[in-house]
Amino acid sequence: MTLPQITLKKGKEEALLRFHPWIFSGAIHRIKGDPQEGDIVEVYNAQQQWMAIGYYQIGSITVRILSFIPIAIDTDFWLNKIQSAYNLRVTLGLAENTQNTTYRLIHGEGDNLPGLVIDVYGTTAVIQAHTVAIHKIRHTIASVLIQTVKGLENVYYKSEGTLPFKADVTPENNYLIGQETNCIAMEHGLRFHVDWLRGQKTGFFVDQRENRLLLEKYAKDRSVLNMFCYTGGFSFYALRGGAKLVHSVDSSAKAIELTNKNVALNFANENRHTAFAEDAFKFLEQAKGQYDLIILDPPAFAKHKNVLNNALQGYRKLNAKAFEQIKPNGILFTFSCSQVVSKEQFRLSVFSAAAQSGRKVRILHQLTQPADHPINIYHAEGEYLKGLVLYVE
Ligand code: SAH
Repeated sequence: MTLPQITLKKGKEEALLRFHPWIFSGAIHRIKGDPQEGDIVEVYNAQQQWMAIGYYQIGSITVRILSFIPIAIDTDFWLNKIQSAYNLRVTLGLAENTQNTTYRLIHGEGDNLPGLVIDVYGTTAVIQAHTVAIHKIRHTIASVLIQTVKGLENVYYKSEGTLPFKADVTPENNYLIGQETNCIAMEHGLRFHVDWLRGQKTGFFVDQRENRLLLEKYAKDRSVLNMFCYTGGFSFYALRGGAKLVHSVDSSAKAIELTNKNVALNFANENRHTAFAEDAFKFLEQAKGQYDLIILDPPAFAKHKNVLNNALQGYRKLNAKAFEQIKPNGILFTFSCSQVVSKEQFRLSVFSAAAQSGRKVRILHQLTQPADHPINIYHAEGEYLKGLVLYVE
């Protein structure tokens, strides 16, 4: 069967020669074979030389590349890719580890599978499809997962919020294999209820694992404020690290409920912890200098380039409040997960906030996303999480 063919405009193969996995609509000269959304297509340069194979999508990114060598995109292709990603997670000590059952198995372009995100929580994998091609292939992916991941029993598909809204498919959130209602996952020996049915993203923010572990080392005898706590991740590491007091804040009542549930799961009769369903900005305003370890892990302030300036102002304001409130010799863990905000831009916002407060500030650590969220070196867009650990005199 011949596949539909995409021919690029003259000179537009540059990005492909550098293994960038996206082809923008403006680079395309001709489309032969009437591909439908999600169909596999072959890509040729203007001289009709074969360049890559990928899948078609209507939109500004028209093709996402799956391979730069000619191979068939069949069940074996998915099996090999997912097996290779799994082997990496075993090498990283994240999979097949009794103290850690929570990890990202597939991180889109970072694992050379554009459009696909898979997180594993104990015996359940949660798939997110960001493109129609992944939606179409979801059942194959689910059965490949069961074959590949040791101990996996259930596959949940959660794509209502991630598929392009114009796509001609009905997004769904449902079990493709098995069923599980009460999942408890483990991260570095701490236990969490993960609610993929109602929770944000795939149910848990897996990407802060190593940063939470670092926080644990700084927590001893400190008064900790965990802002934007969601299910309480940072709070439990602080409690385990010997914090004097931990306050968790999130504007979502559901998140606070989950945080309290998770405290009970890990620490019996814990009286050092209190959770507040409040707005972070308001809470910080009234914090009255009682904390000497503050975590700021807000949602992405900018999802698109056109709101970048507002986002940078947002980071500046939020951090300025923390600098105003934090006790002398305090430690601030501050993050941005906005992909469109660069490391330098984020650091500049925090720098402005520090200068505004007049505090003496030293950078102790520069943080990023963990190894199970790898960045494809040819796809710089995959880098999104940045953090600074600051010592505030
Ligand atoms: N730190 C968390 C992840 C944070 S996700 C973890 O380790 O898992 C961002 C959280 O910010 C969400 O739970 C969302 O409900 C919360 N949020 C968004 N706007 C907020 C605001 N203005 N004040 C407080 N929380 C807010």
